[in-house]
Amino acid sequence: MSDHVAKSQPVLALPSNPIPSSVTPKSLSCSSPSVTYISRRTLVEVADGLLGVMTPSPTHMKPSVNSDSDGPSDEVSAYKAWLATCPSALSSFNQIIGSAQGKKIALFLDYDGTLSPIVNDPDKAFMSPEMRAAVKNVAKFFPTAIVSGRSRDKVFEFVNLKELCYAGSHGMDIMLSCADSESKIEDDKEAKLFQPASEFLPMIIEAYNSLVEATRSIRGANVENNKFCVSVHYRNVDKQDWNSVAQLVNDVLKSFPRLKLTTGRKVLEVRPVIDWDKGKAVEFLLQSLRLDDIGSVLPIYIGDDRTDEDAFKVLRQRNSGYGILVSQVPKETEAFYSLRNPSQVKEFLDSLVRWKEQAQPVHDQER
Ligand SMILES: [Mg+2]
Repeated sequence: MSDHVAKSQPVLALPSNPIPSSVTPKSLSCSSPSVTYISRRTLVEVADGLLGVMTPSPTHMKPSVNSDSDGPSDEVSAYKAWLATCPSALSSFNQIIGSAQGKKIALFLDYDGTLSPIVNDPDKAFMSPEMRAAVKNVAKFFPTAIVSGRSRDKVFEFVNLKELCYAGSHGMDIMLSCADSESKIEDDKEAKLFQPASEFLPMIIEAYNSLVEATRSIRGANVENNKFCVSVHYRNVDKQDWNSVAQLVNDVLKSFPRLKLTTGRKVLEVRPVIDWDKGKAVEFLLQSLRLDDIGSVLPIYIGDDRTDEDAFKVLRQRNSGYGILVSQVPKETEAFYSLRNPSQVKEFLDSLVRWKEQAQPVHDQER
């Protein structure tokens, strides 16, 4: 099937091995009912994964409209059509809190693109003071964890709230209580630390060094060591060099058969082949924090990335809680609800706080 996306973008000819598992077409649960739309979206999902065309653009929106009418109004109507199956968490707020009656809400928040805007320099993905205040407030009422692809230390630097739990490296580095991370007693720290891929640390460092070396000649390529995974950002690389980035990363991976490649928003991610992802991290956190009673806890996970789909899927399969996808464009997703951008995420968090404050003053709340 031809597609203008494939024609208008340099196709990134990733060699057959390894195939990023995350670009495999998934079941649709929150997408347009149009069959044509779905099949074309699937193609775009693949293109997204490899080319990272995740930011809103006329090209990105085109698959949902016919070829002779692809203006902004069509983008709006395509988004509206998608909202019919993946409703706004703001407009559906009453339904969400209706499901939470008699239950404790547990919040899981991705960082990049959810609490902070996506920026060109990943080291500068700062969250606003207003967003930090919103997260701090919401954590007064609900157990709250950050689940990010970044290293735990890095995401803690950005968020800087000790009252939260942090799961870094796509959930491969979990600290159950931030307060304990500063404990002088090593046993305290270790009791709260969960690192299912710890044996991979030396290999990740080696892969990081190799990837830095391999991509040195590519202008704009940025290799980030996220402790249990390595992220190769190509947001600032000229499009004509995207193929080279993929090829170089793939070549490096040939020496590391126990590492696999996945994709995110203009980023190629190298991580251990263990069966662990953000979904597993959420299950682990729910159990460890004794929040795994479906009858009394309603987990809500908010995220914008393909890697967040694993967490959405876990909540859907548990038949407990809701995934909320942050996206400005229609996407296939396992999430139940959507929000357009980080400012809507803030609005949603603020609404949760207002709702809880009205129901019960903060000092009476059970954490
Ligand atoms: Mg994200």
